[in-house]
Amino acid sequence: MFISECLSVNEENHLTIGGLDTVSLAEEYGTPLYVFDENQIRKNCRLYTESMKNFYGDNGLILYASKAFCTMAMCKLIDSEGMGLDVVSGGELYTAHKAGFPMERIYFHGNNKSKAELELALSFGVGRIVVDNFDELHLLNELCDKAEKKAAVLFRIKPGIDAHTHDFIMTGQIDSKFGVALETGEAMELLREANTLSNIEVVGLHCHIGSQIFDLPPFCEAAQVMMNFIADIKKELGLTIQELNLGGGFGIQYTENDDPVSYDKYMEAVSRTVKETAKKRNIELPRILMEPGRSIVGSAGITLYNVGFVKEIPGIRNYLSVDGGMADNPRYMLYDAEYTFLLANRATEEKNKTYTVAGKSCESGDLLGENVPLPEAHTGDTLAVLATGAYNYSMASNYNRLPRPAAIMVKDGKSHMIIKRETYEDIIKNDICE
Ligand SMILES: *Cc1c(COP(=O)(O)O)cnc(C)c1O
Repeated sequence: MFISECLSVNEENHLTIGGLDTVSLAEEYGTPLYVFDENQIRKNCRLYTESMKNFYGDNGLILYASKAFCTMAMCKLIDSEGMGLDVVSGGELYTAHKAGFPMERIYFHGNNKSKAELELALSFGVGRIVVDNFDELHLLNELCDKAEKKAAVLFRIKPGIDAHTHDFIMTGQIDSKFGVALETGEAMELLREANTLSNIEVVGLHCHIGSQIFDLPPFCEAAQVMMNFIADIKKELGLTIQELNLGGGFGIQYTENDDPVSYDKYMEAVSRTVKETAKKRNIELPRILMEPGRSIVGSAGITLYNVGFVKEIPGIRNYLSVDGGMADNPRYMLYDAEYTFLLANRATEEKNKTYTVAGKSCESGDLLGENVPLPEAHTGDTLAVLATGAYNYSMASNYNRLPRPAAIMVKDGKSHMIIKRETYEDIIKNDICE
């Protein structure tokens, strides 16, 4: 009934998540409030890990792209599912380290890792560093020398596939800040160079073609291009590439108009492409990694707001203002991202009005949605925005000095806090004032 399986409605016509009444949760913890359903996250994890096993056997690993929602509780959960973790900054790496995440299952990405971040990764003994460019390669080699360590690396490759457009185009991706291009020969040169450096162990290749993608062909195309490159590397450099990381990017359902492919279909198609290309080019099957972020946590989270003032401008539009907005969810502002909204305290009431849902920040563009169908809303209603588990908390800011909301985890009829609500003291804690 509501885009995510963990959502339902109770006898009081309140929205529930994991069986708990969202109106009561909003009262207990305050608003805005991020609410996650643990069973849903675990279910999403297992869909991936089981699918990998079914279609590719044991020679694969699912990594969670932590940037979607990175907290210590989340790192612990991912570890308990036996998965790996993708981090792209010292902050994400530190979070995982503090949560006790096994460092050998960490993949450290990023197009501009600092010297300090690389040093931190080496000192933690991170499993893989995904090298983006020549300068980084040399910096890493030098830092390894100093630390008397070797780094096991993957290389970020632009496979030349632009999945952001609906019909993918084979050249668009050359203009990207991430990685090195295949078609210019730059990628082969980077590998040739790496192969000469004593502290660099060339382990694998990585690509990531975009996000919120619903089509299978771009993923298969990328897998094929990368497998062919692995064969070319073998031929030209005599190097065996052991790992192929195919990135993330699987789309999820935000509204009824979104129609995601099942992970099984995706995994089946990509595994087949990898196996067929390996056979054709006579190379060994690499270990396959995939790194979904959004599709692990997106559907498992919702945000609850308190409805403040409702302003009807006759003939223009109706504004419904909530006690959060762009500071806790900048995605509408950034990408016109669409969401499903409902009044949590009157979950199934007919949606016979249309609202512009506005936040409380001092920006006219601070909106969460426009042309949003809802029942007639009143001050004090609880507004739920669905599928906000990914790229909401992780993109939140303190704009207007708004404290960041709390996040809670719901499981088997119970709830507990995983991120405390920020206080005004937190807001000023780094201010220096003589
Ligand atoms: C963002 C990102 C992902 C995850 O993308 P989703 O769309 O959230 O699945 C995976 N890998 C890399 C390198 C990324 O930058």
